[in-house]
Amino acid sequence: MNIYDKLGVRRLINGHHWRTALGGSVMPPEVLDAMAESAGYFVDLEGLHRRAGEYVADLTGADAGLVTAGCSAAQVLQAAACMTGLDHEKIARLPDSSGMKNEIVIQKSQRNHYDTSYQLAGAKLVEIGSDQGAARAELEAAITDKTAAVAYVWVMRFYSLPLEDVIAAAHVRSVPVVLDAASELPPVENLSRFIRMGVDLVAFSGGKGIRGPQSTGILAGRKDLMQAAWENAFFFGKDKAGIGRPMKVAKEEIVGLVKALELFVEADHESEWAEWRDRSTRIAETVGRLDGVKAWVHEGPIYEGPTAPTATIELPESWDGPTVEQAEEGLRLGEPSIHVGVLPDQRRLWVAPVALQNDEHAIVARRLVEELSK
Ligand SMILES: *Cc1c(COP(=O)(O)O)cnc(C)c1O
Repeated sequence: MNIYDKLGVRRLINGHHWRTALGGSVMPPEVLDAMAESAGYFVDLEGLHRRAGEYVADLTGADAGLVTAGCSAAQVLQAAACMTGLDHEKIARLPDSSGMKNEIVIQKSQRNHYDTSYQLAGAKLVEIGSDQGAARAELEAAITDKTAAVAYVWVMRFYSLPLEDVIAAAHVRSVPVVLDAASELPPVENLSRFIRMGVDLVAFSGGKGIRGPQSTGILAGRKDLMQAAWENAFFFGKDKAGIGRPMKVAKEEIVGLVKALELFVEADHESEWAEWRDRSTRIAETVGRLDGVKAWVHEGPIYEGPTAPTATIELPESWDGPTVEQAEEGLRLGEPSIHVGVLPDQRRLWVAPVALQNDEHAIVARRLVEELSK
């Protein structure tokens, strides 16, 4: 009996992507082995953190790196570091940020349910622009002597001021730019890309495309801010814990993330992409045989998912079968449970191949045909 069957919890086929709510990613066996091996020993956690941080710095090209408890914890530390610097009185006082530079400027078009991480640290979000974007002059006007940082969310860069412009405007005023790049790996180049562009602190998830433990993340960036993030996270040797203390990373998770990163940078990303394209093509071909249904493989940045060749299915306006919402629900509630993306306004369903295992693409294709034929 499968462990989830014993627990009475349903497994699912993830045609969405490395989505947190669906379990993040599946760790490669090498990562699990490394975690199991690391679990059998005591170790100086600070020393392990420092060594892992150096590795992250190497890969990102940043001055320093840190393994965090997810991208969200990295975002808490971004805010904390930019508000407190190395001032121990301030570090001990968070989330009470009164009297500090405690405002983080963010474009309205980039507000998302993860930006509460900044507020958790005690920062106040100052919103600029509209859903359609913001002007550089609006950003410049919002930066005051209370501004701790400007936040940017890479996945929401459309309808937003370009990152280059945000960096330029913030740096003129000596204000750091903190980036949420949670699900931007792969492509592997993104590990160092944002630091090269001039971002001061970048945060990634460890449990999405890197395929490390779901509870891990990465923070990397400028030396002084990384030192401030470190002290907010640990405050080792002091009599008070920092705001990051409840966001602890276990030794097994640190070791697992390092192993996952090693595998990630060594992987043959081109052949992986080709395999993804192949799976999506097979889904699109099978479903596209249904009368009137258009199905193709989309290769740009997509919808809510990662950049990957993604099977896209569009129903004609004249369609009198099930709606895309009904088909999506049928797949999700069916046996096996299958999660796919749905864009009701465009009468589209999409299936990303990145989290499909073994021959699950064939199961997804068959079930899509069944649901759409009802
Ligand atoms: C997933 C995600 C996060 C949170 O990452 P965790 O590693 O789960 O903490 C933050 N921001 C964005 C845009 C995300 O997609």
